[in-house]
Amino acid sequence: MNDAKEYILQPDYFSEFHCLASGCHNDCCHGWRINVPRPCYMKIRSTRKSPELEELVSKGIRRNKKANSSTFFAGIQLDEKGDCVFLNEERMCRLQIECGPGVLPYICQDFPRRAFRSGNLILLSCTPACEEVVNLLWARPDGLEFLAAPREKGILRISRLRTPEGSQTLYSHFEEIQWVCISILQNRSYTLDERMILLGIAVRALAKIQSTTEDAAVQDWLTRYTALTEGSGFKAAVEKLPSNPLMFLANNLETLFELLITTSSPDMKEYLKTRLDSLGLKLEADHFTYQPDAYFEQKERLNAFLHGQEYLMENIIVNEVFAHGIPLNGKDNLWDAYMLLCILYSLLKALLTMSADSPKSVLSREKLVEGVILWARISLHAIDNRMDGFVKRMHENESDTLAHMAILING
Ligand code: SF4
Repeated sequence: MNDAKEYILQPDYFSEFHCLASGCHNDCCHGWRINVPRPCYMKIRSTRKSPELEELVSKGIRRNKKANSSTFFAGIQLDEKGDCVFLNEERMCRLQIECGPGVLPYICQDFPRRAFRSGNLILLSCTPACEEVVNLLWARPDGLEFLAAPREKGILRISRLRTPEGSQTLYSHFEEIQWVCISILQNRSYTLDERMILLGIAVRALAKIQSTTEDAAVQDWLTRYTALTEGSGFKAAVEKLPSNPLMFLANNLETLFELLITTSSPDMKEYLKTRLDSLGLKLEADHFTYQPDAYFEQKERLNAFLHGQEYLMENIIVNEVFAHGIPLNGKDNLWDAYMLLCILYSLLKALLTMSADSPKSVLSREKLVEGVILWARISLHAIDNRMDGFVKRMHENESDTLAHMAILING
């Protein structure tokens, strides 16, 4: 690859990001396990430290003997309140104070920024797992714009998006394809649910030419699906796709329940348990019982609260599609990438609906921000692995069609 030709795209908020530090209500040093990759572990262990910090490192960073990748070589422990054990009384990081920022695990150095490369294109963005990023997404009623940016030396670790075997022709049009997909999601002549379905129609056609070696086939797709980026000429077609709010809810409750019993984060467990309890969710033998009416009341309250600010959901989803290059994010099957997006979209809607901690409590911006952060922390792991099991199950149950995706979307 010729480094001289590489170029960077980033959303318009990227250069505005500043950590809220002690003003943050959902700080990132709390509630989730920090992975310590092998090189970081070696650096931390070998850096000269005070005896107190040495002891804290010995107790606070545990080797993960079952790790099957260097990324998960070790992990930082949380204390009984769920805080990172390296935080001092002022919520400052003892490791950073004593050894400097260069000794921190990669995620602590980079968060919330992230960088992916496909060919010579580098995509920079921030994850909404950070409170200030949610604020920045919420401050853009006209939607996100993506700008070319100069390369700053050594700012971030860059993950390479894999090009699946045989998909080189398609991936050589990465930027144009991504532009079409994002422009469909930003076409406000349709509701966001409709845009998600239109994206599905486009991705389904793209998946059919995933292993093409003919440039003309990709050009043809680009021409054809650019038509979905403007106007509302396909409204009648998307309106025909099914909607089943009860099935939408059952699917999401099943996913949330599974996350509740598998998460190692005490905060996430508590959050999910409170929300599921608020719907009276109970597991009985092999099925759930719950009160759908409580959910639909919360949904009406959410719609009223977000009236005029619906762009928040658009910005969150567009940000994730851009960040990960969806659907060209390295999955062997482009349709799987779209299915995963639908699962995450559906989950975002459900979590925002349930973001008040009880059906009676007042919905607030703070609660919605907290809901987005939780969703993003789930998604961070989901894009690469955690939700692949849900996608696999959908294939096995033959629930992997566009009609099924429409049910996941239209809740
Ligand atoms: S979540 Fe974001 S704003 Fe809050 S402490 Fe972390 S980086 Fe700073």
